[in-house]
Amino acid sequence: MNPFQFDVRNLPEDGKQISGTQPATFFQLPETDTARADTPLIYNLTILRDEDDIIVTGSVDVTFSLECGRCLERFQHRIEMPDYQTEVPIEKETTIDLTELIREDILLTLPNFPRCEDGNVEPRDCPAEGRFNANESSLSQEMPGADDGVWNALDKLK
Ligand SMILES: [Zn+2]
Repeated sequence: MNPFQFDVRNLPEDGKQISGTQPATFFQLPETDTARADTPLIYNLTILRDEDDIIVTGSVDVTFSLECGRCLERFQHRIEMPDYQTEVPIEKETTIDLTELIREDILLTLPNFPRCEDGNVEPRDCPAEGRFNANESSLSQEMPGADDGVWNALDKLK
């Protein structure tokens, strides 16, 4: 049963309270995505009708595992929104499903370029920080001026 789906015509005037958990699969992250939900989603929401809109308020809490783009190690990033709020216009007086909306709202708060510093469960320093320029100096040494000799030798052949 989908707790985020309901019929707008049956919504009580003072709103509908829903709370519980959704498994990590709720986020439908593809296997190839480096982001993974590590915990179920814990939600406690009030769904209210305000004329032509549905207003959702409450709290959501879930912990993701992300991969640091610098050191490629995984770390945990908890999304805890005690004052979560979202709204959606009512297009038809029928059933409405807030699953997509809530999923997207939460996923959008994940950092686009995760770094160890975004870890808020067990904060740590990125082990690769500062290592960035280590391999840059060897490139400019590729042609150590040895071709002078080659050209000189060719000149002599003319
Ligand atoms: Zn890192």
